[in-house]
Amino acid sequence: MRAVRYLGVNHVELVKDAIKPKPVGDQVLIKIAGAGVCHSDLHVIDHGTVAAPFTLGHENAGYIEELGDSVTGYKKGDAVLVYGPWGCGHCKPCQQSFENYCDHQSERAFGGGLGLDGGMAEYMLVPSSRLLVPIYDLDPVLAAPLTDAALTPYSAIKRSLNKLTPDEFVVVIGIGGLGHTALQILKATTGATVIACDISAEKLDFAKKLGANYVVNSKDTDAAQQIIKITGIKKAKVVLDFVGAPSTMDLGAQVIALHGDLTIVGLGGGSLAVASGKIPFGTSVSLPYWGSQAELVEVVGLARQGKIHIEIEKFPLEQVLEVYDKMRQGKLKGRAVLIP
Ligand code: NAD
Ligand code: ZN
Ligand code: ZN
Repeated sequence: MRAVRYLGVNHVELVKDAIKPKPVGDQVLIKIAGAGVCHSDLHVIDHGTVAAPFTLGHENAGYIEELGDSVTGYKKGDAVLVYGPWGCGHCKPCQQSFENYCDHQSERAFGGGLGLDGGMAEYMLVPSSRLLVPIYDLDPVLAAPLTDAALTPYSAIKRSLNKLTPDEFVVVIGIGGLGHTALQILKATTGATVIACDISAEKLDFAKKLGANYVVNSKDTDAAQQIIKITGIKKAKVVLDFVGAPSTMDLGAQVIALHGDLTIVGLGGGSLAVASGKIPFGTSVSLPYWGSQAELVEVVGLARQGKIHIEIEKFPLEQVLEVYDKMRQGKLKGRAVLIP
């Protein structure tokens, strides 16, 4: 079968002779309908943060092709999402559905597409039926990015829901795959006023269409002052940084309110001084990773109600390198999905 293999730093190849896996026990073989392209892949490809070789693609959806002999509750042809962070399945965080925070993460590969074989291929082997989430009538091509581009912002927003009341302001930095979904989740689940930031005028127009109340170009040297002019003296109760670069983390620190939540989702290499005088008293800084499987079920609920819609651009598997280049240049709108 065809598969996009990560073979080492800056070395990605589409191979035609990958072996189609055979599920045993509780394993399930998925016929991939769509695999979303996440910016985290670029951190892996460009910096070698995860050991090669493996098949890329950690945002996956498709149809059940074959079931291991002990799987129950599913049948061939069911449309499913693959929950991405694969924990041990036994520790307390895993038992509570937070496999993204499995106690054993440091001694395991992160999951399919991040150390183990992922979904940029015709078929993908999922190690346990416990990692599947049914999507019912949703189109798996449209739904694939729900597993990360929607789940990650959903989880980041959910932990701050008590602060996102109608009198407060939230700043969303980086309106790409994750950020454009974050705007919709904020609109669907909170009453806060939303300020969107990006460095591209096109992305800022897109943000307005998705319901952002205000947009600010974070390339402007007075971006922080522009945001504070909108919020007034109270500043933004929540900042969601989907870039995580030195400049965006600096911006977040300047606009976060006292007792606010400064949430850094992007892996852009920035760092933050957590000290008095650097961020306001009461600030909670967090570095969330992905989300729980139960939260993914809630995200599917939002999508089935039509409250969130991932803007996708479809590409054949063969164009994977071109898609990564477009992503490096910030030229993708919403999420690119590879169709095997
Ligand atoms: P993307 O490429 O789709 O979008 C990035 C967006 O940020 C683009 O719109 C770009 O124009 C904008 N941008 C770039 N520099 C900027 C700046 N200085 N100020 C404002 N906007 C800027 O990326 P994505 O797939 O949405 O991923 C975003 C980040 O989140 C990446 O770093 C990725 O690795 C990370 N990520 C983290 C998790 C997690 O669990 N923590 C999960 C998924 C992705
Ligand atoms: Zn990702
Ligand atoms: Zn675990």
